[in-house]
Parts: sequence; C-alpha cells; structure tokens
Amino acid sequence: MYPLNYIEPVFRPPSEWKSLILQVTNGCSWNKCTFCDMYKDEQKRFKPKAIEEIEAELKYLTQNNFPVTRVFLADGDAVSLSMKRLKEIMQLINKYFPNLQRVSSYCLPRNLLNKSI
Ligand code: SF4
Repeated sequence: MYPLNYIEPVFRPPSEWKSLILQVTNGCSWNKCTFCDMYKDEQKRFKPKAIEEIEAELKYLTQNNFPVTRVFLADGDAVSLSMKRLKEIMQLINKYFPNLQRVSSYCLPRNLLNKSI
C-alpha cells in the first residue's frame, strides 16, 4: 500500500494542496456534465469504497506517521453517501487523526439538499 490504493485518476483541488486525498467513493454519482471528463474512464464508474478499506488506509497512515492535518473526501461527490456512512467515515478520521483541522469535499447540490440540517 503506497501510500494508498487510489483508483486513478485522482484530482487534487488547488485549495487542498496540504490535504490527504481520501478516496471514500470512486468517480462521480452524476457524471453527466458536458464540460467534465474527469471521471469518464471505465475504472472510474461510481462506487462507494468499503468502510474496511477506508479504515485500513487511515490506520496505515497513522502507523507510518504521515503528517495529516487536513482531509479531502474524494472523488467527485462524496456527499452522495448517506449520512450514516459519512458519520462512520468522520468518526474513523477523528479516531486516527484527533487533531485534524478540517475535512472537505466536492458536493453535488442536489445531494446536499437531500440531507437534513
Ligand atoms: S458533478 Fe462535478 S465531477 Fe460530476 S460530472 Fe459534473 S463537474 Fe464532473
């Protein structure tokens, strides 16, 4: 595992230059914007990542002392995950990196609107 099992390509937003890019989904749940070809490759078909895989990656990073202070949830639309799954992921991140400064992600507006306050 060096350092993580990314399904390429993975895109780093410029504002996330200091962040761990944590792939909690592969691709984009929408994937229909005509101007966007970020996730059009066959291997980028949308799929949530197994929670066990996510935890194994976080554990690996902690055990190998990677200096993680920020996390970006990839790929294109992590907020498409249920709140139950997002909460599980956030709790794992907090468990392995309790001094984290921030977590961010891309988000399709309709998926945000589907979440309650
Ligand atoms: S929602 Fe974002 S990642 Fe998905 S197809 Fe549109 S621009 Fe690309």
